[in-house]
Amino acid sequence: MSDSENFPIDVFPETEEMDLRPGADSCYKCSACDTSCPVAEVDDDFPGPKFQGPEQWRLKRKEDTSVDESVMKCSNCMRCDGACPSGVPLSQMHNTARAEYVSEEMSMLSTEYWRNRILANYGTLARIGSKVPRLTNFVMGNSLVQQVNEKFLGITAEREFPEFATETFVEWFEKRGGSTVQSEDKRVAYFHGDYANYNTPEVAKALVRVFEHYGYEVAVPDQRCSGTPMFANGMMDDARRAAKFNVETFHNLVEDGYDIVCSCTSCSMALRQEYPELFTFDGTAEVAAHTYEALEYLRIYEDVEGDLKGAKPNFPNLAYHAPCHARNQGLDGQAVNLFSELDGLEVTDVGDSCSGISGTYGWKEENYDTSMKIGEEMFEHMEDAPGETGLTECPTCAMQMGHGSGYEIRHPLEVVESALVN
Ligand code: SF4
Ligand code: SF4
Repeated sequence: MSDSENFPIDVFPETEEMDLRPGADSCYKCSACDTSCPVAEVDDDFPGPKFQGPEQWRLKRKEDTSVDESVMKCSNCMRCDGACPSGVPLSQMHNTARAEYVSEEMSMLSTEYWRNRILANYGTLARIGSKVPRLTNFVMGNSLVQQVNEKFLGITAEREFPEFATETFVEWFEKRGGSTVQSEDKRVAYFHGDYANYNTPEVAKALVRVFEHYGYEVAVPDQRCSGTPMFANGMMDDARRAAKFNVETFHNLVEDGYDIVCSCTSCSMALRQEYPELFTFDGTAEVAAHTYEALEYLRIYEDVEGDLKGAKPNFPNLAYHAPCHARNQGLDGQAVNLFSELDGLEVTDVGDSCSGISGTYGWKEENYDTSMKIGEEMFEHMEDAPGETGLTECPTCAMQMGHGSGYEIRHPLEVVESALVN
């Protein structure tokens, strides 16, 4: 796909030329999107994706109405996108509507604006906090600080603060002198995102070791947040800046023969789908076309399935949850299938429900109860599964799984590392 085929759509156009009519008119009101929406299922006040997308658009075309504030209650899980049989670009409509709501209706002096901006820019906070990780972990883990955060910022005190690692992934990578493999033919550029860098470097290290095991040179370029929490909070200027930096960086690498691999399925979703839907930077389409989830890449180019048959990782039985964004990329069955013939452990899929946290959504005080209600089905299935360790690709699903079950949560790349590398 070339850049010229890759125009983002103005959802609420000011002129007749900038028209989403084809997208909105494809909606034949079947309500499949509403039925798939985990927020609408438990929150009677949320009008659902059909309203947030095509209906609101039509309404706005007839009269000069503002974007309805309920769009801020959409968690950006993107399940409605996958449910629509008619190809209506729902999440693109929601992202654009949210950005318009924030820029035109939300006061920049409000607590909600600053709370959302802070949550959306987790990477900036993490960069500062991880300079003194032990101190930050101590302060942010303090229940009094959490109560203050809830009272003055609206960040729930119910959740456990995600601890910063004492050494970031990038520090580790630089200390070891970069990739131990040099190759002209097999090269991947790793989009690690903020969480694997600052909070779970063991996941990022596993990716590097597994790809090096298969003979890949791994590049770890300077990068910004994928933008996922920024889209979800309508902070489109922040998202645009981050995306521009990432596209420029990774496009250069693609031109040098690298493919892009991600360990987080929301990051791969952003690079593959949200960037081309929302931005027109040079190289956006090329970056999207060369982006893969890490295990998906190995399934395509290596015999990881064959190599894992009969392998014996040092892991207990696992309860696997497929993140909604993995589902959207057709990756929901991947981990369970890949791990089905491992020796000595059982991996159980805990079903197709949403975990309920959806990035920053479940961190907002007003959404906490809804988030836990959405997660109930997953918690129950985790309890029924033989494993007492969770498994997922998404860091915030992992937070919710751990919070609701008390289980330790691991990443599929760690299982592969244990089976093939260690
Ligand atoms: S699923 Fe698609 S076609 Fe059906 S109501 Fe929703 S947007 Fe319209
Ligand atoms: S993105 Fe998720 S929460 Fe938002 S409308 Fe679609 S299904 Fe509902």
